[in-house]
Amino acid sequence: MDNFFSSQQNNSKTSLGAQFDNLKNNYEAIFIEAAESIRKEVNQFKPENPCKNCLIKDCKVEKKDIFTVYPMNCEYRDWQLKILTYLAGDYRQKLKVIYKNIMDKKNEYFCSKCGECCRLATSEYSYNQLKQRAMRGDKFSEDFVSVFVPYETEEEAKKANPEYFKLLNELVEDEKIYYYYCPKLKDNLCSDYENRPDICKNFPHNPLKLLPSSCAFNAWKNEIAHEAMLLKAKVDIIDFYKEKLQ
Ligand code: SF4
Ligand code: SF4
Repeated sequence: MDNFFSSQQNNSKTSLGAQFDNLKNNYEAIFIEAAESIRKEVNQFKPENPCKNCLIKDCKVEKKDIFTVYPMNCEYRDWQLKILTYLAGDYRQKLKVIYKNIMDKKNEYFCSKCGECCRLATSEYSYNQLKQRAMRGDKFSEDFVSVFVPYETEEEAKKANPEYFKLLNELVEDEKIYYYYCPKLKDNLCSDYENRPDICKNFPHNPLKLLPSSCAFNAWKNEIAHEAMLLKAKVDIIDFYKEKLQ
């Protein structure tokens, strides 16, 4: 299995950059692999030459692939509808099982208490937006604002972890990103460990999240990188099928 992050994994100054570059360089190949795998799934339901018994007159369909526009009552149209049901149902369930396996593997790794995830956290939302989301019942936002506060300036955030700051900025490019820290981090340890919320207990909650280079969960990411990227590509491709076939 391809491994995105193996070459530089514990080399602190370059491992984050290597993760980022490998991610970009490998995604195209993984996307093609995912598309091919879904194409095979789709074709197993394809009817075998239904045209020979078809009663529809003046049919002008030549190329019979999954994204062709077929007339109503055409067996190929039934195929498309079957695919939609399959991808949204059984196939999505299969992907959920893969996701669960990926997240379960995280339990084999343990936090090394470097404190970096408490020192520099990010969100696409401002503090006020997060508070509003929390009031509307969003659990993640509620947990987030219960511990994190915003850095007053980007300069302060940058000082917390210059390497991580730089790469997070590169990753989002033109989008606005907000930086936070947790005041409960004292001498690199959580001063309220017993009461920490779920977002702290479950960190990292996304297998594709870019982690600080000192984070012990990079080893987990390293192990599941290919699987997680493939899964993400499949989810994106399913959305594309849904949009095209509705
Ligand atoms: S509550 Fe503790 S574990 Fe959670 S972010 Fe703050 S210092 Fe870190
Ligand atoms: S960055 Fe990773 S290893 Fe460091 S404290 Fe957070 S979870 Fe633990």
